[in-house]
Order: sequence, then C-alpha cells, then structure tokens
Amino acid sequence: MRAWIFVPMFLGAVGIFAFNAWRLFQFLRLARPENRWDRVGQRLWQTLVVAFGQSRILRDRVAGPIHAGIFWGFLVLLSSAVEAVLEGFNPRWSLSFLGPLYSVSTIAVDLFCAIVFVAVLWAAWRRWVQRVARLQGPAEEQRDAVIVLGLIAVIVTALLLQNSTRIALQADHAWAVRPVSTLLAQLFAPNQTTRILFEVGWWVHIGFILIFLNYLPFSKHLHVLTSVPNVFFARLGPVNVLDPLDFAREDATVFGATDVEHLSWKSILDSYSCTHCGRCTSVCPANQTGKILDPRAIVVAVRQRTLDRMPLLLKQRRGGQLSPEEEALLNKRFVGDYIPEEALWQCTTCGACMEECPVLIEHVPVIVELRRGLVMMEARFPTELQSAYGNLEIQATPWAFAASDRAAWAAGLPVKTLAEESTTYDVLFWVGCAGSYDQRAQRVARSIVQLLTAAGVQVRILGAEERCTGDPARRTGNEYLADGLVRANVETLNRYGVRTIVTMCPHCYNTLKNEYPRFGGFYQVYHHTQYLRRLLEEGRLQLTGEHVQTLLHTVVYHDSCYLGRYNGEYEAPRVLLEVLPTVQLSEPERARDRGFCCGAGGGRMFLEERVGKKVNLERTEELLATGAETIAVNCPFCLTMLTDGVKALGKADTVRVRDVAEILAEHLPAGDPPAEGGLPA
Ligand code: SF4
Ligand code: SF4
Repeated sequence: MRAWIFVPMFLGAVGIFAFNAWRLFQFLRLARPENRWDRVGQRLWQTLVVAFGQSRILRDRVAGPIHAGIFWGFLVLLSSAVEAVLEGFNPRWSLSFLGPLYSVSTIAVDLFCAIVFVAVLWAAWRRWVQRVARLQGPAEEQRDAVIVLGLIAVIVTALLLQNSTRIALQADHAWAVRPVSTLLAQLFAPNQTTRILFEVGWWVHIGFILIFLNYLPFSKHLHVLTSVPNVFFARLGPVNVLDPLDFAREDATVFGATDVEHLSWKSILDSYSCTHCGRCTSVCPANQTGKILDPRAIVVAVRQRTLDRMPLLLKQRRGGQLSPEEEALLNKRFVGDYIPEEALWQCTTCGACMEECPVLIEHVPVIVELRRGLVMMEARFPTELQSAYGNLEIQATPWAFAASDRAAWAAGLPVKTLAEESTTYDVLFWVGCAGSYDQRAQRVARSIVQLLTAAGVQVRILGAEERCTGDPARRTGNEYLADGLVRANVETLNRYGVRTIVTMCPHCYNTLKNEYPRFGGFYQVYHHTQYLRRLLEEGRLQLTGEHVQTLLHTVVYHDSCYLGRYNGEYEAPRVLLEVLPTVQLSEPERARDRGFCCGAGGGRMFLEERVGKKVNLERTEELLATGAETIAVNCPFCLTMLTDGVKALGKADTVRVRDVAEILAEHLPAGDPPAEGGLPA
C-alpha cells in the first residue's frame, strides 16, 4: 500500500527536480566557455580538503563548527535518505546487507541527527537572537533561512521519531545500532499509537526530503548541491591571474562582460554556490570603510541576472517571441540596474573576499570582466584614469614622466642596462614604474641594488626599454592597452634571453610571474625579499647591527595583498627582519592571509577615494595601534599609502614607513657605500 503512494510521489518529485536542475545547467551552457578540467588530481584533493574537510569554514571558530556540523551531518544523513527511498519501494528493503558497516552508519546517523538538531538551534540563535551583523540580509533572505532551518529541523526530528518508534516496536533492521533513538524509544510502548507515530515519522522524513530537494533550485541553499562541484572547478594555484583576451579573433564582438552571458560559466556556478554567509563582505576593505561595494551583493546580482536573462535568451534561441515585459527585462543594464557601476571602481582587487569564501567563489574575475566591458565596450571609466591611460600609451608608465628618463634613478650606481651589457650577469632587476620615477620608491630601488651588489650579484636593468608590466591597465579593465605593454615587454625580455628577474613591486611580481607565461614570457621571478632571503641563507649577504645608529626599535610588518594573499609569500620579509639585531618585530591584528589592504591595488592608486573612510587610514591606524616605531612594507604602493596615512594621522615625526630593503641596507657592514641619495635617516 505504501509503495502505491510513495513510488509516483518519488518519481514526480525527482522529475520536477531534474527539470529545474537541467534548466540551471542550460544557463551555464549559455555563458562563456572555459576549461576547468585541467589537473584533475589536484582538483580532487582541493575538493577533499575544502569541500569535505570544510577547511575554509573552520577558520571561523564560532560559525565554522556550526556549518561543518550541518554539512557533515547531511553527508551522513544521506544514507538514511537512501534507505527511506528503498523502504518506500519495499518496507523490507534496507541497507542492513552492509553488515557491520551498517552498524557504523546507523550510529553516525543517529548521533548526527542530534548534532544537526543542536547546530540548527545554534544557527537560529545567532541569526535571530544574537543578530550577527553579516547574517542580517534582506527580508527574502530571512524567509529563506526560516524555511531551510525549519525543513532541516523537521527532517532530523522526523528521523529520530521514525527510528525510536521502530525500536520500540522491535522492528528495526538487523545490524542497526542507534544510541540516541534507543534512549528516546523508552518514551514509547509497543502499541498501535507507536505504529501510527512510526508511519508519521517515516512519511514526514521522506516527504520533507523531497520538498527540500525541490526547494533547493529556487533558494540560496542551492549551494547544498553546487558547492562541492564549485570547489572542484575553482581556480588552482595563484588566484589573481587574469585571462588574456584574443583581440585577433575575427568573430569576437564583445571584450570583457557587458552582461551575464559574457562571464565564464564558472562565475555563474559561483553564483549558484553562494551561501550568502557574508564572510566576503565582512573583510572587504572598501565595504568596511563605508563604500557601496559589497562582494556578496555582486555574486547575488550575477545569480539574479542569470535567472532573469538566461531563460529569455533561451526562449529567443528557440525562436520564441518575447512579450514587452520580457523585452524590458532582457534589456535591463547588468551594470547599473543590478550592480552599481561605482561599486566596481571601489574594488582594490585585494582578494580578501576570495580568501575568505568557504566555497572558493571568485569575485575579482567578475569585477575585472565587468570593468573590461565598461572600458573597452562603452568607454566608461573614472576620469582620473584618462591621464593614466594616456601616459601608458605614450610613455609606458601611468605617470607623466618621459620613458627616456626611466633609468635616471640609477645614476652613479654600479648597474648597467642590458643594452650596454647582456652576457655576464646574474639577475635582471625589474624596477617598475614607481621605483623608476617616484622619488621615495627610488630610494628603495637604490637600497636593493646596494644589497645585491654587496652580495656579489651582477645586476642589470632594462632602463628605457622597460615598460609598465600592464598591471594597472589590466586591473582597471583596459586589456587592450595592457596587452600591448605585456607583448612589448615579453618581446624585449625574450630578445635578451632573460632568465632570472628580481622585482621590488608585488604587482609587477604577480604579473611577470603568473600572467606573462600566458603571453609567452617564462622567467624565474623573485620578489626582492625572496631573493635577499636566499642570499642571506646562502651566506652571501652579510648583515650587522654594529654601526647602526638606531637602537633596538619596534617594527610592524604590513603584508601587501599581491605578495602575501596572491602569492603566498609571508615568510621571506619576516625572516629578513627577524635576523636583524636592532629589530623587534610585531604583528598587526590583521596579518598574513587576513592582512588588510593599503587601498592602492586594482588601479585604486590612480583614483580619488571620495566615499567613506580612506582605506589607508583604516590600515595605518591598525598598524600604529601596535606602538611600532617603523612600519615595514614590501611594495612601493603600500609605501606611498601608509606614508600618507602616517602623515594624515599626525605621526610623521615619530613613525617611519620603510621598505624591508631599506632597513636591511642600513645593516650592511660599515665598509659598504651608502646608496646614491643616501639612506633614510
Ligand atoms: S577584492 Fe578586496 S576590495 Fe575587491 S571586493 Fe574583494 S575584498 Fe573588496
Ligand atoms: S561569496 Fe562566498 S563568502 Fe561571500 S557570501 Fe557567498 S559564500 Fe559567503
């Protein structure tokens, strides 16, 4: 009798679910293709650690265990759902043929029922009693949370009822061991009422599982199904690698993204996988300083636009006519109606959002693709970028300096250009635009040359042949301009047969190391702190504190996003500072992979910051709170932003901002000559 009702109900529910899942899959197929099937072994490992091991979630010591408990509980509870379906077809069918394994699974299911129940109560407490800020979304999100937490609570309660009454009726399957249900079974006598309660428990359990399954495609809890594949397909290796565009393709009509179908299918899958947890927004420097940029809202907007636009595109493809309302919806502007244009320009591409996201959602590629669409398809970008782009086109630097003056900083130093001598040298020093033209950064460049020379390293530079790496143009969406710069640099570097590059700028480092290979440029690239650490450990770089005037002083180290978060280098600068006898190193509250941006990345260096608190002030305050006398940096942009911050906070007389290389150069043995222009006092 049960099967007569259950089988059509089950097949109908699965059929409706399959139809809706297929529809969502079709939307992925409408988006831009991208190969994410490379390095399958590495992807499986990533899935094991991040998805099944819940490694990102568990970084949060409070909410982490709650979510991990619910996730693992659900994995275990899946076996009870499978068994319920088997019983639906035939009451005598079960998984007990697994023998001792069945005992293990029934113990786990029983315990997890109790854990999930507690985790649901805890989650509800945090959302509605504690009112944790990042969980206070719009009304429909709250409604969604009520529905899903309610469904989960009903499912586990019904399962406990089903199992405890089954035990009371002495009708449990062979090998079943259920400690919690056995305790609860004491509440029931083996009578007709218990038999009815068992049936109620059984039907409610499987019925609500089928309701839950069909609710998922329409809810933010779609991530229950998509987050595991999303982690599998997440980018491997350095996360902030932008894909080049093929400008030679004759059939290419759109560069960047002007609407949702121009984004990669992975960006759409990301949007299906967002749990709306708000972790990304809670660490976003722009959002946390009062700007409208909200990385969670961007992911949510991608999903909303997908659900609004993709069905209409499908309808058109199949020859269907759109109604006027549908036409209006189709023609809405993605940037403007769904995502505020201003928000896109507030992003520093610091990557904190991506680092924090438990399901490895990639926010920055979406933001850059949309910037590309604005810049290259609609010529819409902040006016300040006009002069930066003009300078890049003419002088190959974002600032208004002559390309021919690029090597002026090196006057008097024992460093030649490759044009002068390109056979007997060890490293090419990639100076970058800041090191070449900015007076303060020039002092860092000189310190680096001084250190390398003292260690016996033969250094060459490109001088006037060096161009901007293209990073500011790439990150602000002007890929056409960046493409020209990158290709010209690759041509120069390959012409000289360059193999090893040392650079003082993490933005140059990231681009040369991670992005140039996509343009045919393959080099061994070091950030100067990495190379200096190597020299130190090889005993080639000798440092001493004997002649240094400065007494023991406290130094706080600031991680730059592009060296730290994007390239995982946290140790080299710290090792170099810790080895100095005069330095007492301290850490700010947010450090390493949770470091806070200085505010200059993603082209923000060239844009005015008009809304909210300035990001550099927020960071400088935090660094100053350590009481350190020196702020050590590894990036010329951080140097500028934090120096400005220290000045704005009235601390310029007592606190200095210096590159790690400057502090090191001061510790060279007394016989070594000071760098051209002198070391900072
Ligand atoms: S990259 Fe940084 S600034 Fe941009 S959205 Fe993410 S956290 Fe915010
Ligand atoms: S993008 Fe990631 S971190 Fe942000 S709300 Fe969604 S799941 Fe959470």
